Amino acid sequence: MVANPYDDARTMFDRAADMMNLEQGMREILRTPQRELTVTFPVKLDDGRIEVFTGFRIQHNIVRGPAKGGIRYHPSVDADSIRAYAMLMTWKCATVNIPFGGAKGGVIVNPKQLSRAELERLTRRYTSEISILIGPDRDIPAPDIGTDAQVMAWIMDTYSMHSDHTVPAVVTGKPLNIGGSHGRNEATARGMVAVLREASEALSFQLGGARVAIQGFGNVGANCARMLEEFGAVVVAVSDSAGGLYNPRGLQIADVIAYHDRIGSLAGYPEADPITNAELLELPCDMLIPAAVGAQITMDNVDRIKARIIGEAANGPTTPEADRVLFDRGVFVIPDILANAGGVTVSYFEWVQGLQEFFWTEREVNAQLERVMGAAFQQVLRLAKERHTDMRTAAYLLAVERVASATMTRGIYP
Ligand code: GLU
Repeated sequence: MVANPYDDARTMFDRAADMMNLEQGMREILRTPQRELTVTFPVKLDDGRIEVFTGFRIQHNIVRGPAKGGIRYHPSVDADSIRAYAMLMTWKCATVNIPFGGAKGGVIVNPKQLSRAELERLTRRYTSEISILIGPDRDIPAPDIGTDAQVMAWIMDTYSMHSDHTVPAVVTGKPLNIGGSHGRNEATARGMVAVLREASEALSFQLGGARVAIQGFGNVGANCARMLEEFGAVVVAVSDSAGGLYNPRGLQIADVIAYHDRIGSLAGYPEADPITNAELLELPCDMLIPAAVGAQITMDNVDRIKARIIGEAANGPTTPEADRVLFDRGVFVIPDILANAGGVTVSYFEWVQGLQEFFWTEREVNAQLERVMGAAFQQVLRLAKERHTDMRTAAYLLAVERVASATMTRGIYP
């Protein structure tokens, strides 16, 4: 059966809603996105042809603050995946207690098949199509799979051109020279490593010497590999969308990154055996970090997963059924809405810095990030113990309660 990320996101929500006896009306508010925009727009390709693309911007909830969430350029984008990730953003911001609601955007496209000029035109046209929703106090996009700081710069510039003045706070994850934040690029990985360190203390295991397999070698996966190696972990496997590498004695991450930058892929790296993405997930290791696309750990492979700790750097990498199996087997899963919240946390810092026009040092950013991630991890862990449940359900209990109580405090309009 093909996993539907929106069904899966709602199943995870329902589990928490049942456990907290959430009232029916509130459940219906929170199960459904508040605003959905589908846009279909033409882009002129370099050879003069016109291609029509479809994109989305979906705001799941804006009760706790402006909508926040990334923009994904990927062939797998569809309305349901964007609904799911928008919903995850609501819970993610609430879990780490930053004052944002949740949104997500995306365009159905393989950005690797476009030239830089085509990518710029696509981004600028998509930005003007969604400009009825976005804005520095309304809805603030950020990078996600297939987008980066340069794409954010084009969004910021397009929005600013239509506003007749420069509006840095309309996006986060911008380049440093136009109002980006120190530490934003590495923030998701740094947050992931921060919660793994908390987990290692809570579960009394050593990060030093722990064997780690990481799926995905984009911004998040590659930075996780680099930082975990710095903490003495042994990164035995990494992969990108085309396949991966395995060396049970550990990979030299700086060398792998340099190879990947040079060749554009991991294929052919000499100091390791080639493996598939499916094989990577099932390797003997202590920690598994899915840092690529969703629905990777499913009923089809969960019985063969050997890691004792899973840190969900990706959004939605585990299906709800597989999640149950992992919990029953005693695998400690740090859920996406906690594990990868470092990115949006530093996005919040970037937004604050932009609005105040007062910029922090990298040390200040990282210290605040570690404070937020550490506090959220401890709150979720405490709740998981109190309620005898898994970390995901506990994070949902915390997040849903925050959004529900904010809704009731504000009241139902009119
Ligand atoms: N795309 C990232 C995520 O899924 C970051 C979102 C943001 O910074 O707004 O959390």
